[in-house]
Amino acid sequence: MQNGAAGVLIEAEGDENQLYQFIAELQENPPPLASIQSFSLAEIPLQNSGLFTIQESKSGIAPLPPDSDVCPECLGELLDPADRRYLYPFINCTNCGPRYSIITATPYDRPNTTMAQFPLCPECEQEYRDPKNRRFHAQPVACPVCGPHLSLLGADGRAIACDPMAEAVRQLKSGAIVAVKGVGGYHLAVDPCNAAAVAMLRERKKRDEKPFALMVETIEKARGLVQLNRSEELLLQSREKPIILLRRTENSPVCPDVAPANDYLGVMLPSAPLHYLLLKDTFQALVMTSANISDEPIIYRDEDAAHGLAGIADFILLHNRDIHTPCDDSVIRVFRTHPLLMRRSRGYVPRSVAIPDVSGSVLALGAELKSTVCLAQGGQAFLSRHIGDLKSAATLDAFAKTIDALQQITGIKAGIIAHDLHPDYHSTLFAAKFPDAAKIAVQHHHAHMASCMAENCLEGELIGVIFDGAGLGSDGTIWGGEFLTGGYGGFERAGHLLPMTLPGGDAAAREPYRVAISMLYRIFGSELFATEMDLFAGLTAVERSLFIKMLEKGINSPVTSSAGRLFDGVAALLGLRSKMSYEGQAAIELEGIAEKGRAGKPYPCKLLTEDTGTVLDWRPAIEALLLDVRLGVSRSDIAATFHHSLAVAATHLCSAIRRQSGLDRVVLSGGVFQNRILAEEMVTLLEKNDFRVYTHRLVPPNDGGLALGQAVIAGRSFKCV
Ligand code: ZN
Ligand code: ZN
Ligand code: FE
Repeated sequence: MQNGAAGVLIEAEGDENQLYQFIAELQENPPPLASIQSFSLAEIPLQNSGLFTIQESKSGIAPLPPDSDVCPECLGELLDPADRRYLYPFINCTNCGPRYSIITATPYDRPNTTMAQFPLCPECEQEYRDPKNRRFHAQPVACPVCGPHLSLLGADGRAIACDPMAEAVRQLKSGAIVAVKGVGGYHLAVDPCNAAAVAMLRERKKRDEKPFALMVETIEKARGLVQLNRSEELLLQSREKPIILLRRTENSPVCPDVAPANDYLGVMLPSAPLHYLLLKDTFQALVMTSANISDEPIIYRDEDAAHGLAGIADFILLHNRDIHTPCDDSVIRVFRTHPLLMRRSRGYVPRSVAIPDVSGSVLALGAELKSTVCLAQGGQAFLSRHIGDLKSAATLDAFAKTIDALQQITGIKAGIIAHDLHPDYHSTLFAAKFPDAAKIAVQHHHAHMASCMAENCLEGELIGVIFDGAGLGSDGTIWGGEFLTGGYGGFERAGHLLPMTLPGGDAAAREPYRVAISMLYRIFGSELFATEMDLFAGLTAVERSLFIKMLEKGINSPVTSSAGRLFDGVAALLGLRSKMSYEGQAAIELEGIAEKGRAGKPYPCKLLTEDTGTVLDWRPAIEALLLDVRLGVSRSDIAATFHHSLAVAATHLCSAIRRQSGLDRVVLSGGVFQNRILAEEMVTLLEKNDFRVYTHRLVPPNDGGLALGQAVIAGRSFKCV
């Protein structure tokens, strides 16, 4: 047996029956962490060896394993007073434990992990060498005698003489903020039922309203906080242990400040034995939010934790097993029993995604927000961990490191660089660091379309309905409500949402009331302030005339067809939110109230034929919506009707495109499709109209999945590299 570039190579001998049984067993009952992507058999001359050996790993693109949670056997031992690893926070075996985050080089063997500094004690050594043992060749194997240990630091960074776990639990119980070193980085923990502690964390972390994730010990305890259906339960318990967004129960004991103005809580089960010990018997749940400074990457080095978290954490619970590669928690919601990834990171990375074959080796650099990069070769794509928004020097540094590490662990050296069409994105500028590589600029929404095509292994031409926040269009305006036709080789803009301007540019992306004003201008022109609305309440006469001037002359008002902004604008028109403290907040709240409403007769939209394609004119819909507001229809019902109306109109536009092109397959992509109501309505309506509809399941529909599409487009445009 040998690990190698192509996976695991097993040479087995025996009589035919035994061999067939072995093959069947291997396919039907693979080891818990195995993922069988393909399986091939070949006959070789009989060796008559009679021995079982594991040969040294070969380097190459051996698929590296993601980090895994604790397996049931290890959990049993962790809580068994008779076991020698009783309460040992670093217990693991062949079927579980850290992987990707501790691997320093390939092939994956103990000397190439951060466990190299812990020589095995005789007992662990014996388990490691015994083919019948569950810890046979478990690279991170450890015990209290030979493995890593916990310690607790005070706010001054000095170690406290105590039982670190017991003291951390005691401090959490009394309302302290404790930084906890987990698998992929540090979390900040507080008791979510202690309002003062949560408020203190918000204040210290300067995180006004963005929801905090929770960790619960068991699925039973999760049921006390959130509603769970069968698929959600399965995903919550999956080996990847992602954060799942779940609707909170009416009498959830968690204080509202954990997720203000949000009916959902992000919940995960423990991803490490350490977490079980932290939660055991004491807490219904713990807030476990990534430890970082505002929008910077997750903290994972002990030195950075010591000074970066000073002033935020009262205590730091850490250990001496280094994290080599940081990895944020993955975030998912369930859509039609399948995962809808909002962030694909710990537990999933660096697993490859099977894609249609590409030529050459491509590195795709993604966009600007929710950045990830992607390496693709042949029929495999490796999408990186979540890096974050490329705004700060620290994130850019993480971006560069992620690229190096991904090339190193996959052994793929990029000959082709794909980047966004936007010349000013940091990711685009980064392409200059590869002077020898061929470079291809990929239009943002074309990349979204290709990303959904690639993960569904689709070929040929189809329709892409791409709804997102913003991306540079081929005509120099900002796109984001696009109906494209084409495939990997190219696209046409067959249709789009009616464009509007964004008065104040970037400010409009953070302040939905500006978008609402622009939408009203699109309908009523300069008369927009004639009818008084709550929306205008805070605006002085000077500000109003300034707005009119900006809108009339287009000063600092870029043009956009963005669907994301349309949702923001509607949220502002309904008085939900005029300014946002995090990206997507207004749209999330709009979807939140729509869930409680009932959609009425759809608001009318018009389809206009213009040079730029068929335009979905939302103005009649907004006028009808405003009438409902004036009639006192509930905001929930209006929000539900708005979602429904957009889906109806988008389906009409797809039908119009089909009449012209004959295309009947539709991919849905872009960050707006994290909105489950819209996605559900679109899939239902399109299918009812005999379209074949494809959505994302393996990578996020948002910009976190964009690099995958860029990679395939670039790989396909070089036929003979
Ligand atoms: Zn285990
Ligand atoms: Zn040991
Ligand atoms: Fe996008």
